[in-house]
Amino acid sequence: MKLELQLFAVPFRKVSKTRGRKRRTHYKISENATVTCPKCGAAVRGHRVCANCGTYKGKEVVKEKEVAE
Ligand SMILES: [Zn+2]
Repeated sequence: MKLELQLFAVPFRKVSKTRGRKRRTHYKISENATVTCPKCGAAVRGHRVCANCGTYKGKEVVKEKEVAE
């Protein structure tokens, strides 16, 4: 039986907390990625329940009282 050594790409060194965080400063949601809620008009991320009024696609009330505060 032949032993095969599998090599694959491994990071040369650990990315420090600061470095990783600095890189992630560019990860932000753009305004284009938001949609206005048809019920309350708040900016909502697409395909997600409105955090302001708890509706989805204008009608379906998913949760009401927990969200409304
Ligand atoms: Zn809403």
